[in-house]
This record gives sequence, C-alpha cells and structure tokens, in this order.
Amino acid sequence: MLSRVSKVKHHLILAILIGLGLIITLVSSQDVSAKRINVPLDLSLESSSHSPLPENNADWPQLNSNWHSYTVKRGETLSALFSRANLSNNDLYSLIHSPDLTTNLARLMPGQQLHFLLDDNGKLKTTRFDHSMTKMSLFERQDNGKFIENILQREPEKELRYSEGVIKDAFFNAGKDANLSQQTIMNLANIFGWDIDFTLDMRPGDSFKVLYYEELLDGSYYRDGDILAAEFTNQGTTYRAVRYTDKEGNTDYYSEDGRSMRKQFLRSPMDFARISSHFTTRRYHPVLHKFRSHKGTDYAARRGTPIKATGSGKVVSAKVSRSYGKYVVIQHGSRYTTLYAHMNGFAKGIRSGAKVRQGQTIGYVGSTGLASGPHLHYEFRVNGIHKNPVTVKLPAAEPIAAKERERFEQYASNLLSNFGTQGNVQIAAVKNSQ
Ligand SMILES: [Zn+2]
Repeated sequence: MLSRVSKVKHHLILAILIGLGLIITLVSSQDVSAKRINVPLDLSLESSSHSPLPENNADWPQLNSNWHSYTVKRGETLSALFSRANLSNNDLYSLIHSPDLTTNLARLMPGQQLHFLLDDNGKLKTTRFDHSMTKMSLFERQDNGKFIENILQREPEKELRYSEGVIKDAFFNAGKDANLSQQTIMNLANIFGWDIDFTLDMRPGDSFKVLYYEELLDGSYYRDGDILAAEFTNQGTTYRAVRYTDKEGNTDYYSEDGRSMRKQFLRSPMDFARISSHFTTRRYHPVLHKFRSHKGTDYAARRGTPIKATGSGKVVSAKVSRSYGKYVVIQHGSRYTTLYAHMNGFAKGIRSGAKVRQGQTIGYVGSTGLASGPHLHYEFRVNGIHKNPVTVKLPAAEPIAAKERERFEQYASNLLSNFGTQGNVQIAAVKNSQ
C-alpha cells in the first residue's frame, strides 16, 4: 500500500481553490481577539504563475504505533543503530547494498530519525527517513529481498492572510503584535527597504498592511509564504507594493503604478559593513604615504566576508593588478560600471564574460594589492566618471513592460482593493474576469 502512495499525484487543492475563488482568512490587529473573516477573493492570475501545483496532503503517510522510531546518537553508526533496534545484519546488508538508492543512509547525522516497519517475523519490511517536513524516503523490501527507494515530496497548502499594525516603539514589535513571523517582517522590510531605512526612518504612528500566504502541512501552520501585496506608511508617506509574475515567469515587486520597488543597484556591496574611508578627491594614502584622491568607498570587514554584485550585469574584468589586487569590474548596461578591489579570492564562476545577478556573491574580502588591512574598495562609475557610491542617485530597476501593463493593473487593483482605509479592515469580494 505504501509503494502506491508515491505514484498518486493529486493537484486538487489549488485547482479547486482557483476555480471557486480563494478563501482569505483575515486577522485584524485592531481586535484583541484576532477576529477571522472568510472572504472569497478571486486571484485567477495566480493560476497562471509558474509555481508547481501541490500534491494532496491526504496521501502523506502518517507515523503510527506500528512504526519503531530511533534517533541517531552522536557517533553512532548505522550498524550500531540497527543492533540497538534489534535488526539483523542481514537486514542492514540488504538495505545498504540494494542498487539504485539515492539516499546514503550511512551518512546520517546525530538527531536525525529512522523509522522501521517490521513483518510478522520481525524482519525489516520498510525503512522511512524524513529529509524534511516535505520530503521523505521510503525503502521498501521487494520479493527478491532487495530494497527500493521511493522518494515522496509534497507542497504545503497555502492560505491567504491579511494583517495590519501600527508602530509604537519598534517595527519588529509591531510586526509580532500583528501575528507576523520573523520571516515576513524581514520580507516586508526588504520590499520597502529601497525607499525606507528601517533602522533610522521609523516613527511612532507609522503603519503597515500586508496580504501574504501562510503555508500549512497536515492542517497545521508550517511557515509563512510570499507576501502578495503590502502597504507601508512612513512619516506620512504611503508606499504600496504588489508581487507580480509576468507571462515569462519573472517575479518582482512593483508599486501600484507599475514602477519597480527595487533600484537597479544595491547601495552597498555588503550587509552591515562599516565604511572605513569615504569617496574624496583628496586624501592621504596610508600605504603610499602621499596625498591622492580616493575614487571609491572602503568597507572594513573580516577577511572572507562575501561581496555582492550591487547590480545585475556582465563581468568585464576578474583579474589581479598591483594596486587593486584581485578585483572585479561589472558592466551594467551601457552607462554603469562597478569595481570591487582587494579581494581575497573570486567566487566560483566569476570570470570575464560571466553574467551576474544583483546580490550574487562575486568574491570575498581580502587585502590583496595596496591595502593596509582586509577591506573592500568599491567604485561606482557613470559613463566612465567616478561617483560617490554612498550618495549617487541610483536608477530604478525596469518598470512593468508595456505588454504586461493591462494585466498587471487589473491584478494590482484587485489585490489592493482589499486593503482597508483608516485602519479598518474593509474587504471587498473581487471578481477578476481574467
Ligand atoms: Zn579604497
């Protein structure tokens, strides 16, 4: 019966929900008792996104009292665990020497679990190993005595959630009060982080609204999924963002009028880095011991700290020079280049001609070339002219394409019409004729 499970694939859940209109569960942070309202919301556009459909969780085998579970102890071998479970050497031998196994059970880590199902004679029939909450391997004995491995995977069920909050002291606390997970709080900050500095700009009275997926396994909370739409009011200015997947399957966040929420460049090539030397036209060079201009920004960081490409583009140099040491130059379109110097080493695949995405690690902090200690020297050039990377006006990323605009606007207005006004949750049942 168990072997049948892996072959049964249902795509019922999402299909039914899309057909009938998704049920949205609302949690109003205004109400201490966290009132939940079910409202039909037609998100037909979602059905054309490229995400795989979930399998039916009803087919996910549950452990019961017939299974014998063992947790791998520190330093315990598979053979030691088998003898602790009173299983024979023959069982162990045929399990690990069966052909075509994908998972190497000899590489188990302490704390991981094996579950055994025995036949009436106490002989091993099935071994189960859970890779994660959504992936398991079932090793099942065949008539010839060998085991075959069935790998089962499932997608969490998704439910829409709406939440909103007002900041009293810190954004993080307001997020917690609104029942948001740490992950969703971080995601919100990332979406609006291009316009709002979440460490310096926050003020009491700032507010947010967010429509997001909650993912469930076996009917219980598993984790928060993607944010579909969000609003943030900071010091009187309201920003709105909609997650949109275009016809080619590219997903990004856009303002309701179709501008990208992102800039074409990250402000800094490293997270939480301290600026040790600013861009200037005249400065004393600590190694050369003379005055010269400094045409970039230095970030002090530990040797080996990952360096990110601040924008997508093409590597035009990844080489070594006497002054820059190991350095990378990236060309972004026809106007912009960025340079990253004194690297300890390049990231895998970083060579002249390689394409890189914004945020991709291109190398690691070092002190090669003329450097008094480990740091990153970062340059930003517009039409070949050096600009101050800290203050240069960063161009916005590409807006919604003209051929996507009508589809996007319909989708965005449907989503955003679900956001209440004046702090009240006012939900409209939206029909999308798409
Ligand atoms: Zn420098």
